[in-house]
Amino acid sequence: MAVENNNVVTLNYTLHTVEENGEKTFVEQTSSENPLTFLHGVGMMLPKFEENITGLDAGDKTSFELNAVDAYGERDDKAIAQLPADMFGEMGLPPVGEVLPLQDNDGNQFRAVVVEVTPEAVVADLNHPMAGKKLNFDIEILSVRPATEEELSHGHAHGADGTEGH
Ligand SMILES: [Zn+2]
Repeated sequence: MAVENNNVVTLNYTLHTVEENGEKTFVEQTSSENPLTFLHGVGMMLPKFEENITGLDAGDKTSFELNAVDAYGERDDKAIAQLPADMFGEMGLPPVGEVLPLQDNDGNQFRAVVVEVTPEAVVADLNHPMAGKKLNFDIEILSVRPATEEELSHGHAHGADGTEGH
C-alpha cells in the first residue's frame, strides 16, 4: 500500500539543516523503537514533506531537501520581543539561549529564544528555531495502512497499529 491521503504512515527520518555552503548539521532522528506515525494529508506535516513521500511503499527509502520557504519560513528580523524584566519576578532572569514558553493574547502557545538579557528587559527571538534553514530529510517508510474511522474523525493517527489511546 502506497502513501496517500488518509493513510497512516509510520517512518523513520533523520533531519539535518543545510548551510549555504552545503554543510549539514544534525538535528534529530527517530529510531525503530520510536518512529514517527502520522495521518497523511490532513496538515499535520509540512505539505512539501508529504509531497516528497506520496506514492512510496513500506521499505522504500528517500532523501530530499526542503527550502526554508517550504519548511519553517524565512527568518523575520523584526520578530523580536522586549519582555520587561518584572515579568520574570521570583523566577529570576533567564540565561541567553534559554527557550521560553510564551502565550499571545489569543492563547496561542509559542516558543522564543532568549538572545540578550539586560537589567530592564529580556530580548527574545520569536522566529521558529528552524526558520531560514534548508532542511534535509533521509526517510525510510516502515509501514502504511488505511486510517480507521475513528482516526479520520479525530484527524490524527492512533499509533502505528491504530490502537494507541490518547
Ligand atoms: Zn484521536
